[in-house]
Amino acid sequence: MTTQRADYLISGGLVVSGESISRQDVLVRGEAIMKMGPDLSGEAAVRTIDASGMYVLPGIIDAHNHPVNADRIDTFSISAAFGGVTTVIPFIRNRHDEGIQDTPLDAVEAFIEEARASSVLDFGVHAILLGDDDVETQVPRLIEMGVISFKMFMTYPRRGMMMPDDRMLRAMELASRNGGVAMVHAENGYCIDYLVEKFTGEGKTSREHYAQTQPRILEIEAANRAATYATVTDCPLYIVHISAREMLEVLAHFKGEGIRLYGETCPQYLDLTNQAMLDHGALAKIGPPLREREDTEAMWKGVATNLIDTIGSDFCGFRKDQKYSGGQSERVEGGAQDAAASIFDASFGGNWCEQMLPVVYEEGVNRGRITLTRLVQVLCENPAKIFGLYPRKGVLQEGADADIVLFDPSIRHTLGADSQHCLSDFTMFEGKEVLGKPVVSMQRGEIIIEDGELKRPVGRARYCQGNSSLAAWSPTGHKIV
Ligand SMILES: [Zn+2]
Repeated sequence: MTTQRADYLISGGLVVSGESISRQDVLVRGEAIMKMGPDLSGEAAVRTIDASGMYVLPGIIDAHNHPVNADRIDTFSISAAFGGVTTVIPFIRNRHDEGIQDTPLDAVEAFIEEARASSVLDFGVHAILLGDDDVETQVPRLIEMGVISFKMFMTYPRRGMMMPDDRMLRAMELASRNGGVAMVHAENGYCIDYLVEKFTGEGKTSREHYAQTQPRILEIEAANRAATYATVTDCPLYIVHISAREMLEVLAHFKGEGIRLYGETCPQYLDLTNQAMLDHGALAKIGPPLREREDTEAMWKGVATNLIDTIGSDFCGFRKDQKYSGGQSERVEGGAQDAAASIFDASFGGNWCEQMLPVVYEEGVNRGRITLTRLVQVLCENPAKIFGLYPRKGVLQEGADADIVLFDPSIRHTLGADSQHCLSDFTMFEGKEVLGKPVVSMQRGEIIIEDGELKRPVGRARYCQGNSSLAAWSPTGHKIV
């Protein structure tokens, strides 16, 4: 019997870690997990939550999202919370395109202020480095304030977002030296622009032409190049939103060489194909594009064999009218919803976060493609380890933050825009039936979601600094199957 009274006793559930599933009770006191054990029914607690029949998961960490369009951190974090996410790590970039001549550091500070005031979930930050950013001063200063991960685009040269290779090498060297992690969107932007221009010149601008302008070879080439640069600079490298089947060979090769290389895929690349683009046009436009069934199956194989280390959502909340009109809502009339308009003018991105856990559980665990412990590795433990949040986040153990999700595997429900909580007014998972739902979630000992309602007010969210000495852990090899 512990002398201090706990706030919560979560009793009768099956606690899931990246290693095992075991029948354990969890005592929460204050913000942390106080004690865990097979039977803590003798312990005093203010409130007991019956978790029998449920899985007790560490809160999901969504390490890939962009709350900068229709959904900012306020509504994005609410939507994420309903999906069993307790920590989000958004990408923040300078705001030169909004006419603000700031540095990434300025933008990060502004974001932290906004999120402290309006997020319902704890958050970290990844910085995006663009070609005109001063990486020499920015990288070390950002790492000092706990922003240890730096995303660079190898594509979008005409949108002014592509990082030139020489600057990318320098940023990787600085990240490596200061304990950071490089992240890349791996696609060859010059080739994509060449193909888009060629197709446009030939009048081929419909939905069926989109994927043809961003073929798999461009992802493979860029990933090989980035991993080569990471080898030369000895920099840990995280490749975001992997989509092409051949990427498994790239990951296997460089991981086999001992490079600290991490792969991420997303629920959309695990479940949807180019058919969604053919069916829905602009609404399904993302980069890299949705690919073929062989690719989604390869993504599952990668997750199951440890070649792919994490699943992130790549949430980017747009309303339909913003998708059609390339982000400019006032241009909705005559936008790309017209058959005559170009698919290349529509916005990139979609809202994939709230459905991430149910989709990964349904398609992964229910269909026998991955185990539930592997799900916890890729959605909780690994992002925490790679981005320096472990073991406060990502695992349920004594002393860790009480970020806990109760997942009921017996609830059958249908995903759709009507039941999601973001401002984005559509979902590509519309009508998908899934078995299993997060029903209660808690952050640092405070209930966030219960009875289908948001219980936590804004103003409680905490900025989580990445601890660079913990970051960039070495995965324990991949399984050859
Ligand atoms: Zn993204």
